[in-house]
Amino acid sequence: MPARLLDGKDLARRIRERLTGEVAAFRAAHGHAPGLSVVRVGDDPASAVYVRNKEAAARETGMEGRIVHLPADASRAAVFGAIAELASDPRVHGMLVQLPLPAAFDPVEVQAAVPPGKDVDGFHPVNAGKLLLGREDGLVACTPLGVMALLDDAQVPLAGREVVVVGRSNIVGKPVAHLLLARHATVTVCHSRTHDLAAVCRRADVLVAAVGRPGLVRREFIKPGAIVVDVGINEITDPAAARDQLRGQPERLARFAKNGKALVGDVHFGDALEVAGAVTPVPGGVGPLTVALLLQNTLTAARRAVGERA
Ligand code: NAD
Repeated sequence: MPARLLDGKDLARRIRERLTGEVAAFRAAHGHAPGLSVVRVGDDPASAVYVRNKEAAARETGMEGRIVHLPADASRAAVFGAIAELASDPRVHGMLVQLPLPAAFDPVEVQAAVPPGKDVDGFHPVNAGKLLLGREDGLVACTPLGVMALLDDAQVPLAGREVVVVGRSNIVGKPVAHLLLARHATVTVCHSRTHDLAAVCRRADVLVAAVGRPGLVRREFIKPGAIVVDVGINEITDPAAARDQLRGQPERLARFAKNGKALVGDVHFGDALEVAGAVTPVPGGVGPLTVALLLQNTLTAARRAVGERA
């Protein structure tokens, strides 16, 4: 039997629908909407799209959305000044600085300038620390929250089970490992130096891949029946890779033939369909949840700003 698909698009739509109602109730109770501001520095084309999507999604749920765009050669004073302005603006409840930043800036230093209570990306050291300490009064990174939302929606039991996370980045691998640990999973984190990655992954009841290597996780990595969550978003342009990675997906192969590119995950989807119990597609798995959870974090920050428990 082929693996069940964990549909992130549908879950993201349901979360955003719920948030729209909650935002309306917040506005009715407090006379203003939750506000999300996104700072973009420079001209990275992918960032421009992401930032516009975040602002549009905020507006669609009834929040105030705002973009502050600075040129690639912006001075330190200009960047830190813009952050400080948003930090002290009471209409801004959530804010984030889109990565990547121009090379002159240290992302950790820039993100540390965002007040922890407004840090809806959950990247501030105080929020990362709260996650590590298992406290629930911080803000948690959105993609890891999306992974947990998918697992919870599919009612995947975690307590006591073997979970393997491939990837140890600060934005996905490490935070998701801590969220899973907080849910009493037995968590193994793998990375580029892990010996015999396939054998370690094959132990997993739940396998989370956040690597950035197209189709790295093959059949021999997956325990039969395992739940596989694919965080990777990779563009492929090589026809041989496309034939392999899009096996069994004739419509997507046809689109590849036309466009010369396709998005695939870190998991070989055809293999996972045959071996896993459930798998997230790419696109349409974890990706759509990241923005939905960003909106949820913004509402949480706004509720805390007015003294509500959230
Ligand atoms: P990263 O480059 O910061 O980290 C990659 C991690 O993978 C590192 O810890 C590295 O040690 C590990 N790694 C690299 N090669 C490996 C190998 N051959 N074997 C085992 N481990 C290896 O990446 P990231 O920012 O965590 O992103 C990972 C993937 O998730 C990317 O494809 C990215 O596009 C995607 N992503 C998606 C979303 C979303 O919204 N769905 C959000 C963030 C990242």
